[in-house]
Amino acid sequence: MTVITEATIKKLAGFKSADTPVVSCYLDVDGRRHIRPKDYQLELESLKKQLLALHPGQMFDADFALISDYVATQLDRHGVRGLAMFSCAEKKYWKVIRLPVSVANRLSVNQSPVVAPLEAIVHQLEPLGVLLVDRQRARMFIFQFGEVVERTELFEALPRDYDRRDDASRGSREREQHHIDELAHQHFRHSTEAVFRLFQERGFGRLSIGATDEVYSAVEHELHPYLRERLAPRIHVPAAANETDIAKAAFEIERVVELEREEAAVTKLRDAIGSGNKGIAGLGPVLSALNERRVATLLVSNGFEESGWLCSCGALALRGPKCPVDGQDMERVDDVVSDAVDAALLEGAHIVTCEGNADLDVHGRIGALLRY
Ligand SMILES: [Zn+2]
Repeated sequence: MTVITEATIKKLAGFKSADTPVVSCYLDVDGRRHIRPKDYQLELESLKKQLLALHPGQMFDADFALISDYVATQLDRHGVRGLAMFSCAEKKYWKVIRLPVSVANRLSVNQSPVVAPLEAIVHQLEPLGVLLVDRQRARMFIFQFGEVVERTELFEALPRDYDRRDDASRGSREREQHHIDELAHQHFRHSTEAVFRLFQERGFGRLSIGATDEVYSAVEHELHPYLRERLAPRIHVPAAANETDIAKAAFEIERVVELEREEAAVTKLRDAIGSGNKGIAGLGPVLSALNERRVATLLVSNGFEESGWLCSCGALALRGPKCPVDGQDMERVDDVVSDAVDAALLEGAHIVTCEGNADLDVHGRIGALLRY
């Protein structure tokens, strides 16, 4: 499967076709929701009808044929939950990206591929480390899209038989209990060392720990500072849980981590706007800031589309036809929001694609944190 990276996305965003538009199609083919291929094929047909209704008089027959043919005859759904397809048949441009996560259905046209949904996915690609630990056992996993990609275990038996000796005097019992606690702490230290080794060897973005309150604070205390700053919300499964339950809980944590990332970015934007310091909202101001290469982070609601104008100098505008930068006549584009994402990528800005963030929506569904 093609691994999506920022470089792949940038390359897609770099393809431009001013005269004949590029058709971008995102299709959810997740077998958990669409058991029969017919289910997503019908969805595709209705997306096509919607697109034709929005663009009367335009022909997308050749692009539609390529997309339908791929979906009907070439798609192997093994490990694939979503598809991103980009077609400009006139220019012999055809790209398919098979995705291990499901996507929101979307069919749209613009003068370049619509890549914002891919930007949202590339961040979900970051693996999640999970440590399940009790007083003698540690299980470590690396998850991606809720599936295990790496696992390792550590077991250090505590001398349980201490408790059963009946000849032990009170004093020696306390000493023995103290000794057991020491061993448990040693085990926590070994566990955190093992997680750190796994982190160095395989890498993961965030770490979620599952443990009782008492064990959790002991383990957190032993964690390497690099890992402590990567702590994600706690995972609530017992150390002996089966892998299906752990995977389900890990998938939930991945979702929470992504939502937190989006929320943190939107909060930062709101604060920047509120204090009048390097924050702007709304499509018009964002396009102007992009034209001036001032955007550090672009925030956009997934699915937001708006027609606009693009100049051969690269400038974008909501209203045309005169370019706000050099006064030339600009070309109309079907989706200037997608062009804004492309421009931001080419300027080296971070992109945060939000899934239905109400705070961003009240700010016009798009905003930017500025470099200056
Ligand atoms: Zn211009």
